[in-house]
Amino acid sequence: MANINENHLNLKGTYLFVRIAEKVKDYQKAHPDADIIRLGIGDVTLPLAPVIVDAMTKAVQEMGKAETFRGYGPEQGYDFLRQAIVDGDYKPLGINIAMDEVFISDGAKSDVANIQELFSEDNVIAITDPVYPVYLDSNVMGGRTGESVDGIFPKVVYLPTSAENNFSPEFPSERVDIVYLCSPNNPTGTVLSRARLAEWIKWCKDNDAVLMFDSAYEAFISTEDTVHSIYEIEGAREVAIEFRSFSKTAGFTGTRCAYAVIPKEVTAKTKSGERHPLNPMWNRRQATKFNGVPYIVQRGAEAVYTKEGREQTRANIAYYKENARIIKEGLEALGLTVYGGVDAPYIWVKAPNNMNSWDFFDILLEQAQIVSTPGSGFGPHGEGYLRMTSFGTRENTIRAVERIKNIKF
Ligand code: PLP
Repeated sequence: MANINENHLNLKGTYLFVRIAEKVKDYQKAHPDADIIRLGIGDVTLPLAPVIVDAMTKAVQEMGKAETFRGYGPEQGYDFLRQAIVDGDYKPLGINIAMDEVFISDGAKSDVANIQELFSEDNVIAITDPVYPVYLDSNVMGGRTGESVDGIFPKVVYLPTSAENNFSPEFPSERVDIVYLCSPNNPTGTVLSRARLAEWIKWCKDNDAVLMFDSAYEAFISTEDTVHSIYEIEGAREVAIEFRSFSKTAGFTGTRCAYAVIPKEVTAKTKSGERHPLNPMWNRRQATKFNGVPYIVQRGAEAVYTKEGREQTRANIAYYKENARIIKEGLEALGLTVYGGVDAPYIWVKAPNNMNSWDFFDILLEQAQIVSTPGSGFGPHGEGYLRMTSFGTRENTIRAVERIKNIKF
């Protein structure tokens, strides 16, 4: 008889988005003519840039001719894209990354979820609270968390992240082997400063911990006091793995392409204390379990690094950033307390009058027909906040802020 991996039974249901969908459905049923504006979505809405479409069209044509047809590709990604990443994302920052330290994948979600396979089951992980749920759930599946009690996993170290600590978590006070940091952050939309990240790198080195640095929203950064890559910080090559994605940078959420950087210096130990580099382990893992990203898609991603590609994708980011500014400044003008929205497509809104997240959600839905995401769904320290996103149309973003002006809190 086959036995299941019982770790999966420890997963909590994805109640958040199900409950949101149910509430919106009920509201729509009761108000069939309601013009609902969705500011809860974490998905891009603008189409792919023309230069990307052209590159993929050309690649499709190549696949249709015997001379240029390609079958199985390298699981780690084609050299043309790995080189474009090295030259386009790292060289301009003065960072030396070798091509074989870049692993192309179908998503930062897959990478941040799969990377834990390289580590032993008794490793202790630290995550921020609130958090992008994939870091936690993948470790639940990996057997590193224990069974949750009232939504809290006993073996996980939670790092509260809120206005009280300026959205910059304290270092763990207990032993931790793997730390997940996300900057710019989903859901809070805030960034960690360069100085704080330097302290984290030092902490990881001092404590022999590996840092998983999720930088999926790097393209939204405009603040100078942070980093575009963790490798801007001295010593990061020894302890940090960086995750980047074309999803939000270039609208690839449906097209699928991302990458992870694993410098050769990053190591972890066997039980007997022997150090092993993670780069060849990940290489082997991907070669066994991953088929690579389609050639056509990688040609599209490569086009992001052309002059036109940069201009066109940056124009789309600028559009979302302007939406974020409109929401942030619009809500601030109403006296609401708002975080994020400068270096990220997310705006983290404090519920007024000590309301909880769901009550604030209900008010926005019922009085302004706006769908948002309750902060409590991202962890206990998200309670009392809402996440709004800037991925809507300009028109809807402006209309949403106008509607919120008319709410009586
Ligand atoms: N990391 C963070 C913090 C995210 O918010 C998301 C998507 O919402 C991802 C990773 C996933 O990115 P991808 O679309 O490349 O899988």
